[in-house]
Amino acid sequence: MKFELPPLPYPHDALEPHLDTATMHVHHDKHHQAYVDRTNSIVSELPALKETGLGEILTNINSLPIDDRAKIMLRNHGGGHANHSFFWQVMGPTKNVDQELVNEITTQWGSLEKFKEDFSTQSLGHFGSGWTWLVRDQQQALKIYTLPNQDSPLTLGHEPVLCLDLWEHAYYLKYKNVRTDYIGAWWNVVKFLP
Ligand code: MN
Repeated sequence: MKFELPPLPYPHDALEPHLDTATMHVHHDKHHQAYVDRTNSIVSELPALKETGLGEILTNINSLPIDDRAKIMLRNHGGGHANHSFFWQVMGPTKNVDQELVNEITTQWGSLEKFKEDFSTQSLGHFGSGWTWLVRDQQQALKIYTLPNQDSPLTLGHEPVLCLDLWEHAYYLKYKNVRTDYIGAWWNVVKFLP
């Protein structure tokens, strides 16, 4: 199977001024493309995975019939491809609020504001590169946590609901080292939350 870079679901400048055009170009066209290319080059050397989809690879990474080095490479680069593909989809230039999710969040966190505060605090507190995730666990409960590098919640058996890229490449051009400003701006482009 050959993986391909999915086109952005909106123009590169659609998330301005919150996520700037230059960042979207380098982030999607260069960084995400690199994860796709590396994933293809790893998988091309693993005949056992010829027919295996990326979700299946990440979900079953620990039990795949491949060596540890290949597992680490797929975790990093395959994870990078999967995470970015999902990240572009949770954002958009116009809001399309998922009221059912909002209700569920409000029930669990008390208010949408408390939820955002929790998500933002965990995002700020994460040391180094990684992602913040809102997921559904095996019991369908919503959970927020961060994972390092390009680790995917799929590997934990969790279903991604929302994610935020904490790598500096996601924000450095516009926000420099100020992750808190990036996080604050990012909420404006989360498509399905008001
Ligand atoms: Mn990224």
